[in-house]
Amino acid sequence: MKSLKKTTAWKWFALYIKERDRWICQTCGRAGKGRFMNAGHYIQAFGNNSVFFDEKNVYAQCINCNLWGGGKQPLLKEVVIKRWGKKEEEKLWKKAKEARQFTKEELKKIAEEYKNKYNLLKNE
Ligand SMILES: [Zn+2]
Repeated sequence: MKSLKKTTAWKWFALYIKERDRWICQTCGRAGKGRFMNAGHYIQAFGNNSVFFDEKNVYAQCINCNLWGGGKQPLLKEVVIKRWGKKEEEKLWKKAKEARQFTKEELKKIAEEYKNKYNLLKNE
């Protein structure tokens, strides 16, 4: 299967996350749109597909923090706990251990869901 990052589902999911976080990097506070801003995983998605599309696991992050700062996981941990609580943070790690595959249909659903969520947020 092609990389999840290349799916339409990820495109809309990432866009929603960036809009939700108001295009502000959650680990350094810088704001910016376009290619400057990424959607970064707290628990690295590599091999942890079960938390790939988890809103609690993904945050707006500038390219410096996401790519060159190694994701700044210790800082993101604080963000996760502040926003969702320590219990949810622990749950994420448990969930991350589960193997997860996405069917084409599931990816299509995720794409539709987050396209809608993005558009709702944007029009607020
Ligand atoms: Zn940053």
